[in-house]
Amino acid sequence: MHLRILFIIALSYVATSFQVSSHRSMVVEKPQIAADSSRITSPVFFKKLNLNMIQEVDYHIDLGQDYTSIKITTSAYSSVQLSFSSENNTIDFGTLYSNDVVEMPPSFRVFSSPTRYITLQSNTSTAIELEFFYAPPVQLQLPANLKNKSNCTKPPTIPQSEWREGLPAPKPGRKTTIVKHCIVHHSEGSNTDTNYVNTIRNIYLLHTESNGWDDIGYNFVIAPNGTIFSGRDPLNEGDEDNIQGAHFCAKNGGTMGVCLLGNYNLTSPTTVMQNSLKDLLAWKLKKEELSTTQYFPHPDAFGDNLGTISMHRNGCPTECPGDSVALLLNTIASETQEIMDQCNGVVSVRKPIPKYKQMIYPNPSNGRFYVMIEAEANIDTYALKGMDGKRIVMSDFPANFLIKTDISSGIYFIELFSNEVPISSQKIIIR
Ligand SMILES: [Zn+2]
Repeated sequence: MHLRILFIIALSYVATSFQVSSHRSMVVEKPQIAADSSRITSPVFFKKLNLNMIQEVDYHIDLGQDYTSIKITTSAYSSVQLSFSSENNTIDFGTLYSNDVVEMPPSFRVFSSPTRYITLQSNTSTAIELEFFYAPPVQLQLPANLKNKSNCTKPPTIPQSEWREGLPAPKPGRKTTIVKHCIVHHSEGSNTDTNYVNTIRNIYLLHTESNGWDDIGYNFVIAPNGTIFSGRDPLNEGDEDNIQGAHFCAKNGGTMGVCLLGNYNLTSPTTVMQNSLKDLLAWKLKKEELSTTQYFPHPDAFGDNLGTISMHRNGCPTECPGDSVALLLNTIASETQEIMDQCNGVVSVRKPIPKYKQMIYPNPSNGRFYVMIEAEANIDTYALKGMDGKRIVMSDFPANFLIKTDISSGIYFIELFSNEVPISSQKIIIR
């Protein structure tokens, strides 16, 4: 392994501050001189670097200054395992694909601490684009009493001007919209990160610098400790909750986007986080004189009706906001309605939407699978939807629970209805 091969790297970059060296090595070389970000008087917020990677080669990169997050895009449709390491952390990016401009690409990662020297390796030779973001650390004094009141008044939030301190300003020009749909997202980020201000600052840089958007895409961001951050800045052109955002696959009209920081595929949001979400939704729906059980056609020509409380996956090809949130959403909606009923001085005017135990077996399947759900759910109809949210099949729910379909292999959602009301939605895989 002491054989050292030098490669000529096809490298192009926007700025001149990158230095890249590559050699086959088992040990990641530590830089001789530690990064000293205090010497940098005017840091760069965003850098792009293109790299033609040769498989299994370590690429040691000196970024020239500290950065706080990274986004990786591979050449079109290539599939690549990339591991990333610095002095502080190693990130396995898993299989990456070329990404469209989305509000939260899976290859966007916030570093656990500012990082100048990184090492990259790919198991496939591929062209990659690296984007680096630098959000200078801020000491933000969070208000002492952020406790929500659950009384349908606006819950306290951290204003944009506070968490955005020291970052480039959002671009002027705002579009307001009449909100009929609150769309729930997750950031697909770390569940152990507690530097929420740093994370939202990096998401802001991703959306403004990489995506080229005017501002952060979401109207609100909620941290696992229950803190609510105001998102897109209204810039005095309306209420922040009615400013059209960028979070719903270019169908943002009529929506308000709320992002839960963390990854909720396997982990449930904390109770305080759910409480903040319910308080935010109760305030917003009451303000718009809506209820949690209403459905409206989406104003940007989304085929089916969309609920007043919906998930990103209800309208776009994504798994956002994660399976755990998907399972909890009916409960969150019914408890939000309870808060609203109490604000209206109404007690139990409406039965909360019950949540039913459900199992699909086998899943993945070859197109024949059982859908077991409690009899009280009174399922009469089922639909199969593609990842784009479009309905492919709609049919009577079989009495023997066995669904047979000949749709081509892929990932779908099965939605179960009782009396035209959607009761549950679950991902299925057809092989
Ligand atoms: Zn989302």
